[in-house]
Order: sequence, then C-alpha cells, then structure tokens
Amino acid sequence: MTAGAHLTHFLVIGAGAAGLMTARELARAGRRVAILEARDRCGGRIYPLPIWEFGYPAEGGAEFVHGAATVTRSLMREAGLRLQRRAGTRWSARTGALLPDDPPVPYEDRFYRALLAVKHDLPIAEFLETQFSGPRYDRLRRAITRTVEGYDAADPHRASTLALRDEWMARDDGEHGRIAGGYGALIAYLGTECRKHGAAIHLGAAVSAIDKAGGGIAARCRDGAVFEADAAILTVPPPILSEIALPRPAREQAAAAADIGYGNVIKILLRFTTKWWADHGGRDLADLSFLISDATVPTWWTQHPASHSVLTGWFAGPKADRVSSLTDDELVEMGLASLAEIFDLATDRTRRDLVASRAINWAKDPFARGAYSYATPQTRRAQSTMRNPASGAIFFAGEALYGGPDMGTVEAALASGLEAARVILTKES
Ligand SMILES: Cc1cc2nc3c(=O)[nH]c(=O)nc-3n(C[C@H](O)[C@H](O)[C@H](O)COP(=O)(O)OP(=O)(O)OC[C@H]3O[C@@H](n4cnc5c(N)ncnc54)[C@H](O)[C@@H]3O)c2cc1C
Repeated sequence: MTAGAHLTHFLVIGAGAAGLMTARELARAGRRVAILEARDRCGGRIYPLPIWEFGYPAEGGAEFVHGAATVTRSLMREAGLRLQRRAGTRWSARTGALLPDDPPVPYEDRFYRALLAVKHDLPIAEFLETQFSGPRYDRLRRAITRTVEGYDAADPHRASTLALRDEWMARDDGEHGRIAGGYGALIAYLGTECRKHGAAIHLGAAVSAIDKAGGGIAARCRDGAVFEADAAILTVPPPILSEIALPRPAREQAAAAADIGYGNVIKILLRFTTKWWADHGGRDLADLSFLISDATVPTWWTQHPASHSVLTGWFAGPKADRVSSLTDDELVEMGLASLAEIFDLATDRTRRDLVASRAINWAKDPFARGAYSYATPQTRRAQSTMRNPASGAIFFAGEALYGGPDMGTVEAALASGLEAARVILTKES
C-alpha cells in the first residue's frame, strides 16, 4: 500500500506535545482520531505541578522557550498566550566567590574557528581531545563538556560535533523566556483543539503492542483494551519504543532509535518562606536569574521577574545517571547541600526555611525513561530511516525525530508532530 493512501482512521500513541499536534492536524483535516495516552494526564514531558505546591504551576519538565521556536510561538499566538521574557542577572560561583556572570572561557575564539572547519562529524569529546588536548586548554575543555552535559543532557563521547555547532550558532535567534501561565496552558489549548475537532483522548491507555489487523492495525493496551484503526502514529520517547511490540518492518525501523542519544535530567524544586538569597552576604541578588556553580547540583534558577521564593536545581547528563539510584528525599538533601556550599551556609539554614520540595528524576519515569534527545553522528540517518513512512500503517513522530537544530525541545516535538500529519495528509491527497 502507498503510505497514507486510504487511511481515514488513526491512533496517535502518546498525548505529549508531538502527539497532540499530530492529532489536532489530522482531526482538523476531517480524519477520525483517537489518542492513547498511558498517563492519567496529557503533556508527557511537559509536567505542570499543582499550584498549591509551589504557589504557581511550577514546571516539573519543560520550562523555557528557546531560540526561534517558530511552531511554538505561532501556537502561542493562536492560543492567546504571552511570552514572559527572561530577565535578571546571571551569577557564577565557579571561581569560589559569587560573581555576576561567568568568567570568560580562554581560547573560545579558536574553538569556534576550529568548529567551523569540521567537515566530518565526530563526538565532541573526540574533537576536543584531538584539537584541544594540551593543559592550556583544560578550562576550555571543561567549559564545553559542562555545557554539553548540563544543557544538552548529553554524553560528550556520543554527542555530535556538527549538531552542537548548529545549535550553538542558532542559539540567539529569538527571545528566551517562559510562557506566562506555563507550558501546561499550551497543552490545555491543544487538548481542547483536539476534542473540538472530534479527536477522542483515552487516558490510562498504555500501549504494549501494535499488530496488523485486517487491512489496518490493532493497538493492545496493558489493561487488555484493544483499539483498531487504519494506521498508528507512535510519539513515545525513544527508550519506550523498544518496549512496544511492533510488526517486523516497523520494528526494524524503530531499531534505528538506538542511534539517537537520550539523556537524563533531575530537576529539584525548592520553595522557601522567603527569597533568602536576595541580599545574601552583602550582595544584591534580588534579580538573580541563573546561578552556575561547581557544586554537585551545579545549576540553579529563580522565577525572576516573578517573585516566587522558589529555587530550581538542574542536574543533567552522565552525572545524573550516576546518582539515579538515590531516592527523591536524598536528591532534595543533595540540592540543599549544594545551595549551602554555594552560599556558604549551614545546610540546616537552607532546610529551616523550606516550605515544599520536589525532586523529579526523569530516568525513573516509566513513560519517559529519561529527559530528552540529542544528536550523535549517526542520528540524522536514524531519523530519516524512522521518518520514511515505508511501513505503510505505522508512523513515528516526537522530539527525537526532529531534523532541525533544537532537538530535545517542545519546539522539536510540535514541529515533528506537524510534519508527521502533513506527510500523511499529503500522501493521501
Ligand atoms: C526536565 C526536563 C526539562 C526540559 N526543559 C525544556 C525546556 O526548558 N524547553 C523545551 O523546549 N524543552 C524542554 N524539555 C524537553 C521537552 O519537554 C520535550 O522535548 C517534549 O515535551 C517532548 O514531547 P514529545 O511529545 O515528543 O514526547 P512526550 O512529552 O514524552 O510525549 C510522549 C507521550 O507518550 C506517552 N507514552 C509513553 N509510553 C506510552 C505507551 N506505552 N502507551 C501510550 N502512551 C505512552 C507518555 O506518557 C507521553 O505523554 C525538557 C524535558 C525535561 C524532561
């Protein structure tokens, strides 16, 4: 069968940003759509926490809008959602003392020139080892490695140098900020849109297998429910793909996901009685935005310009894998100890003012098994294998399949969902 031909009834597996976007586009084009979502909520790795916990819908998953993000911004306009621009001062505690902004990284210009000259892709760790091996480049290597691990949640021994170059060169294309009301507002809008166009959303429907059935497919859920349709679009995160039994051609296609990097993030949210850091040690940190340090939990941010007395800690990449066995309480303690170290306080002092806390270790989430994707030198090939709708009735979408510079983002998920729907609808017409 020509992919997409005569398909009128679709199952979308996963109600994250990608799944909801695919479903909305197909439903709005008049197709019958049912969304099967394993959790008891939509949004996936967009995870707003209840307002009572932190005083606002704190983000357990995605929080910022980065870069150009054209699909996200266009959807925000449609939904009447506003961007709250990033503001405030970034501080660094890397040199032992708290200082505004990061100290400059030596040899950065030389690094970017060498990066521009790369013709054949290789892991960034290999690039650094071959081109910047001497002791004088120690700080440069550490700074790059920290960014790759901390921001991209990636293993430098796997992460693609060319993809990082694209990301770094494109980084300042748009205003950075948060959606006023949180990413949950975008998900709520997409969910309403899906329903308005007739798509059904089934929560608590964890798909364990997709089989061929008649001329179409049947999705089997863990609770025994079975849903039939002409075709399915799988939008689950890469590690989950190997947990869903698929017919042979689709299984072979899905195996390519092993070449897509996927890292972990542990997010630690701490709500205090006051913004005790604002005038700490004679320094005016009232407009603190980001704080970068060498502590165990190295990166922290506030909700500035909003006034919530909440600090969010961020711990990502291979380092997060190493503490993955800790309990949530132990992770919160680790966060408090890091803050005590950064601000030169007793841990008791930070604990005393604590009102609410959460540690979210995404590796332990059974429907995500990590935080987000990054490109390896083999990823672009893997993505085109999976995006090629050769298997007829099973399609793949999700942030990991996005071919642009910002893999691992909500933008990537929305753009991939949009593309999957367009491929299906174009092939049909
Ligand atoms: C801690 C963290 C911070 C982040 N920060 C940012 C940020 O600041 N900015 C940004 O742009 N991006 C950020 N991201 C990335 C962003 O959240 C993701 O790229 C995006 O939300 C992924 O959307 P998706 O639809 O591809 O996948 P998902 O959101 O994972 O959706 C897939 C859905 O499939 C469901 N599912 C899984 N298994 C099954 C099954 N067997 N049957 C049925 N359903 C199933 C899942 O429950 C989920 O709802 C962050 C992610 C994390 C974890």
